[in-house]
Amino acid sequence: MTTCTPVKTTCPYCGVGCGVEATRLPDGAIRIAGDAKHPANLGRLCVKGSALGDTVGLDQRLLTPQVRQDGALARVSWDAALDKVAGGLRAIVDEHGPDAVALYVSGQLLTEDYYIANKLMKGYVGSANIDTNSRLCMSSAVAGHKRAFGEDIVPGCYEDLELADMVVLVGSNTAWCHPILFQRIARLKESRPDMKLVVIDPRRTATCELADLHLPVKPGTDVWLFNGLLCHLASEGLIADDFVTRHSAGLDEALAAAHVDCADPLQVARICKVDPQALLGFYRDFAATRKVVTAFSQGVNQSSSGTDKVNSIINCHLATGRIGQPGMGPFSLTGQPNAMGGREVGGLANMLAAHLDLDKPAHREAVQTFWDAPRIASKPGLKAVDLFSAIEAGTVKAVWIIATNPLVSMPDADQVRRALDKCELVVVSDISAQADTNAYADVLLPALGWGEKDGTVTNSERRISRQRAFLPAPGEARADWRVLCEVAKRMGYDGFDFTTPQAIFDEHARLSAFRNAGETARLFNLSHLVALDAVQYEALAPQQWPQDQPRLFGDGRFAHADGRARFIATAPRTPHNLPDEDFPLVLNTGRVRDQWHTMTRTGKAAKLSGHIAESFIDIHPQDALLYSVREGELARISSRWGAMVARVVHGGGIARGQVFVPIHWSDANASDARVGAVVNPVVDPVSGEPEFKHTPIRIEQF
Ligand code: SF4
Repeated sequence: MTTCTPVKTTCPYCGVGCGVEATRLPDGAIRIAGDAKHPANLGRLCVKGSALGDTVGLDQRLLTPQVRQDGALARVSWDAALDKVAGGLRAIVDEHGPDAVALYVSGQLLTEDYYIANKLMKGYVGSANIDTNSRLCMSSAVAGHKRAFGEDIVPGCYEDLELADMVVLVGSNTAWCHPILFQRIARLKESRPDMKLVVIDPRRTATCELADLHLPVKPGTDVWLFNGLLCHLASEGLIADDFVTRHSAGLDEALAAAHVDCADPLQVARICKVDPQALLGFYRDFAATRKVVTAFSQGVNQSSSGTDKVNSIINCHLATGRIGQPGMGPFSLTGQPNAMGGREVGGLANMLAAHLDLDKPAHREAVQTFWDAPRIASKPGLKAVDLFSAIEAGTVKAVWIIATNPLVSMPDADQVRRALDKCELVVVSDISAQADTNAYADVLLPALGWGEKDGTVTNSERRISRQRAFLPAPGEARADWRVLCEVAKRMGYDGFDFTTPQAIFDEHARLSAFRNAGETARLFNLSHLVALDAVQYEALAPQQWPQDQPRLFGDGRFAHADGRARFIATAPRTPHNLPDEDFPLVLNTGRVRDQWHTMTRTGKAAKLSGHIAESFIDIHPQDALLYSVREGELARISSRWGAMVARVVHGGGIARGQVFVPIHWSDANASDARVGAVVNPVVDPVSGEPEFKHTPIRIEQF
């Protein structure tokens, strides 16, 4: 595989899903450029995407299968490793039943990998114990979409951000976390300065630099703010009565819930701790502007009331009929490159493949029939936090962790240590030899990374794009789908005779159209992509689903059985754990501009460390004084769950009473640097998404 011809592929980082052209140069270097023809980025890349060529070298790569023998991992053949995995899973299923095993996978997987993992667990093992790290970033958006629309659908597209007269960014540091989308907004703002940009975020982030208005809400108060907006719209007579009457249900109940606490904007401003005039200004501007996009991300989703936050936003768009038309709608910005593709194939513990429902017998029967599977999971499986609790409790006895590093990324991450320590069989598939979770593996399997693997991903605007291989497989590394198929066959299961990702994609597309009539077919149906041959699959151009429909619901038809959208009554509630005398500050976590997840890839590019070289604790100078910690010195933060150490900074964007720590650093690159160990494991009761944005902590000198 030597070539100087650019290969079109897709960036493996954020949910923007930018097109990339990668070229292998004669000296072995990789030249990276933006794909001018990809609709997501039209040739532009952010600094992370531009540095992809520096992250594909073989240093720190896991290159051979290994099995733990006498306490140490030792190199073995693939046959021996696969036998160990299949035999171990088979024995545990036979003795303890299907729910005693689990898969914990990742938004880094390609759709084809996800499809096979989901098929193996739900259709053959017969358990829905397959969850993903996407649970940690966007499952509240999934649940909010399902409740409001009847289906997990993002109604709009990126172009709407450019057609809007007002963009509201909620809980999203778009400038750092979705940089190319932010650049699109910035260009719009330059060409149309009267377009309004509002940022709702407890922190003054880089995104606020461009904003006409920043509302620095008290963490966790978003539902009050949007319920207040709903009340304002009603009191000003701005409800779109015709749309609401013909296309929705539940407005009265939603308004009744909102009125309890949120009818008075002054009271809402007090609760949210924002300037009352600024809040009223936002309400008036939202009311007066038809073309509004409200884009939200982890600041909304990662909350013990995340699903209600999502629905409180959607309620305001439904009330004004601002959905499914150019330049308007609620918009979930997904964190990961393939969070959406995982949802398409049912990669969450409470979902079935092809956007079908695990709790509907007819849907289960259809999927089982299509797969010709011996069984089908009949109830939702364990969501991420519950899954690791079940491992610690001993009810789940085997876990296969693929393309994710839960020892760093999970809340109460020390519990993950305890859980994996007790687990009878821990299998880890990864590209990195340095991932923290590897230390707990009984079997370690080398995976293909970006540039080596081949398949599809789906970005935040429902656009399926190809990730293409342009590098040879290093060492003995194999594609995750291939390894999953090998294990399935060794466990005695038919239905896994795939030899290419194209064949898997074809089955996925055919399943999406199988007995798929009515509203679900209208929304998720890839029948036009069935039976692509190898050449067509290789050449597959980026495209949205449903075919040729950049926007959905513009006709007022939603996916609930009666075709109507649902308002959801969202009674506001405070975060689950509140600060007290022992833990007086609130910890907020998030990303920095130039790193990705637990840094197993971006950590390899020296230039990406030029922006921020180490972890930090951002705290207000007066709080630093109060708690006797000094800028530039190390401090320790601790919660009821754990502790970590990092350097104190005064970033300038943090309010009194709060601290911010990035999620990326781990014990692999600095001791005691895992912020996940500090984060409370509280989850949203509907989505199961953890409350990463609100943990009571204390800080002290280290
Ligand atoms: Fe990659 Fe996201 Fe940057 Fe695009 S915006 S280049 S997808 S990290």
